[in-house]
This record gives sequence, C-alpha cells and structure tokens, in this order.
Amino acid sequence: MRIVFIGPPGAGKGTQADFIVETYKPAHLSTGDMLRAARDAGTEVGKEADKYMSAGQLVPDEVIVGIIAERLDEPDCQAGYLLDGFPRTIAQAEALDAMLAEKNTPLDVVLELRVAEEELFNRLAGRGRADDTPDVIRQRLVAYREQTEPLLKYYTEKNLLVTVDGLGTVEEVAARVKSELDIIAG
Ligand code: ADP
Repeated sequence: MRIVFIGPPGAGKGTQADFIVETYKPAHLSTGDMLRAARDAGTEVGKEADKYMSAGQLVPDEVIVGIIAERLDEPDCQAGYLLDGFPRTIAQAEALDAMLAEKNTPLDVVLELRVAEEELFNRLAGRGRADDTPDVIRQRLVAYREQTEPLLKYYTEKNLLVTVDGLGTVEEVAARVKSELDIIAG
C-alpha cells in the first residue's frame, strides 16, 4: 500500500505510524525523523532545515521534495510506503503527484488523523521535545492550519481522503486505523 498520513502535531501520528508499519510493513518515510537525523549529523541540509524546525516553521518545499524524491527511489519503497509528515503543503502534494505519475504508482489512500486544536496544545505542552516550547508549538499549529489543512480538500477531490478520529486510547485509535486500512488492503 502507498499511504499518505496527515495529522496535526500532537495528534498521535507517530504512535499510529508505528502501528501501521508493524501491521502492514510499508517502508516508513517520516520527514520529521529524516530532518532531525540530518540536523544531528550536521549535514548542510540538516543545518538549513534546523533554522526552520526550531522556529516551528516548515522547511522550504524544494528541500523536502528533493529528500523524498531520492527516498522513493530506494528499493524498500517498491512494496509500499507510509509517507509520514509529507506532503505538508499543496506545492509538495503537486510535486508528489508528478513523481508518482511518472512512476505510474498512484497513492492508495490519504489517512487523516483528526484531533481538535485545544486538545493538541495540551498534549504537546506535556511532551518535552526541543521544538515543544509554547511559542514553537503555537507556530507549528498555525503552520498546520494554514499550509497543511488545505490538503484535506485537495485529497477529498481526488477521492483519496479517509478521516479517523484521534480521540481515545492508543488501542481505540489503532483499531479505527486498522478497520480503514483493511478495507483498502482488501
Ligand atoms: P510534528 O508533526 O510534531 O510537528 P514532525 O516531526 O513531523 O513534527 O516535523 C518536525 C519539523 O520538521 C516541522 O515542524 C518542520 O519544520 C519540519 N518538517 C517535517 N516535514 C516537513 C515537510 N514535509 N515540509 C516542511 N517541513 C517539514
């Protein structure tokens, strides 16, 4: 399966991504993890990305699109993948569409994990990652609302969007995710 996983910061996307990877074994392409690894390794891309990440802003589209284009060519992506944290803007979604059209490998589903914004702020404030200070959290939520939420309409129009309610225990949410993906996996 080729899955795009969308959800605001704090929705529990990372936890559910791990569940999806364990259950369906797609390659896991987390752009947040890739950028943090590049930053920690001190590469040029990592240094550039850190300027944006530490401010809660999105890194420029061309940076992340380049990373994903290379990654999708790796052999482990042949059997399917979970795109976790990408695309995050309409420009990224269009770039992805172009890449996949060229490979003749359309997406199977875009899964949205939905949680109300008040709940998100509370969850994030209790987490303690370096980019989890209140101002940066607020900025990440704004970036989600302004730049990523438009993707929901974009993928609805392509008949790819499936929304799962992210409120409840990890197990409850995982069961909802599974029932949706089982339908698509067939
Ligand atoms: P979260 O979903 O908790 O905000 P992620 O781990 O997915 O965090 O991403 C952390 C940071 O990495 C983002 O705030 C952003 O700066 C950067 N980032 C990750 N994916 C993308 C992307 N597709 N486009 C631009 N920036 C990204």
